[in-house]
Amino acid sequence: MSQSFHLFQLQKVDSRLDQIQQRINSILQEIENDIRLKITQEQHHQAAERLKQIQQELKKIEHEVNSRRLKLEQSESNLYSGRIKVPKELQDLQSEVASLKRSIANLEDQQLEIMIRLEEAKSEQDQLQKVLLQVEAEVAQSHAGLIGEKSRLENDQQRLLIEKQAILSQVSPNLLAEYEKLREKKQGIAVASVEDSSCSACGAGLTPAQCQSARSPSTIFYCPSCGRIIYAG
Ligand SMILES: [Zn+2]
Repeated sequence: MSQSFHLFQLQKVDSRLDQIQQRINSILQEIENDIRLKITQEQHHQAAERLKQIQQELKKIEHEVNSRRLKLEQSESNLYSGRIKVPKELQDLQSEVASLKRSIANLEDQQLEIMIRLEEAKSEQDQLQKVLLQVEAEVAQSHAGLIGEKSRLENDQQRLLIEKQAILSQVSPNLLAEYEKLREKKQGIAVASVEDSSCSACGAGLTPAQCQSARSPSTIFYCPSCGRIIYAG
């Protein structure tokens, strides 16, 4: 078989693969654009963000409480050490201890309030997680046709890729590189056929001598008009 023949087979497989990929992309797009899913995903995302924020708040306040407790421990140990004899210093230390205790109590109240909000945010998040799963299932149900089509297309894709491997083993690397370059430049079509003595891709008429050249198994013939490889079976 001539190289043009293999390239023509390759082109057929690649064109079909291109079509399949396009259709798969548009199916994915259609499913992804489903507004129900988008809204729920967004709500879920926002709830997760709120939860994260509250967790950070809690961490911060826990840190503050801990550092004040440490400070309190130090002050109390100074206070009861018996080392401080000056009444004024003792008084200052006592009032510092009292003030630390007040501020710790105050922070602990805030901590409790944050923990309550954290619980609420967690349960909201759980709730939205359930809703999301439900909406995903509903969306999948309503797109069952599309999902079925996508899975059939993926099967075709697998089959074609195997077919393509077999064809590729027949094509020389240089020619393959040229083919790929042409595919890039010519909207995916590197190889055309002869139809009614014309190039099937651009429609330019071919002389009988050109058609004859296109049939030659030993050389590659290019459309004089569009530059694509021409295969004449
Ligand atoms: Zn042409």
